Amino acid sequence: MKSFLILNKQQVHKITDYLNGHMPMEACGLLAGKNDRVEKVLFVRNQAQSPVRFVMDPYEQLKAFDWIDDNELDLLGIFHSHPSGPETASPTDIAEAAYEVIHIICSRKNGQWKLRGFWIENREATEVTLQIVD
Ligand SMILES: [Zn+2]
Repeated sequence: MKSFLILNKQQVHKITDYLNGHMPMEACGLLAGKNDRVEKVLFVRNQAQSPVRFVMDPYEQLKAFDWIDDNELDLLGIFHSHPSGPETASPTDIAEAAYEVIHIICSRKNGQWKLRGFWIENREATEVTLQIVD
C-alpha cells in the first residue's frame, strides 16, 4: 500500500480546470510520475458521459499507458470527479478499482473542488495523504 502522493499546485489547477470544463459530467484521468511525485497529468475521456459514473475510454487509456511507458514514468494515480457526489470512493469505485494506485476523488461543493486520495485493496478504501506543494 502507498500512503501518500505529492502533487504541485499547477497540476491541481490543471485537473480542476478540466473538471470544470466537463461539468456536470464526471471526468477522469491518470497521474504519472516517479517516487510518489506526480510529473504528468493525462486526461482520458469518460466514455460513460454520465454525471454519476465514469468509464475510461479504452483507446485513450491505452495511449496514455503507452505515453507513460515511453517516458519511463510509473502510473501513480487515477482521478475522477464527483460533481455532486460524495468526497469518498463510492461502492462502484471500490468494486471497479482495477489498478494498485492511489485513487483520487475530486468532489465539488459550493463551486470548490476538494481532492481526497484513497488506496483501494480487498474491497476497502483507506484514505491516504495528498501532499500539495508549490
Ligand atoms: Zn466515483
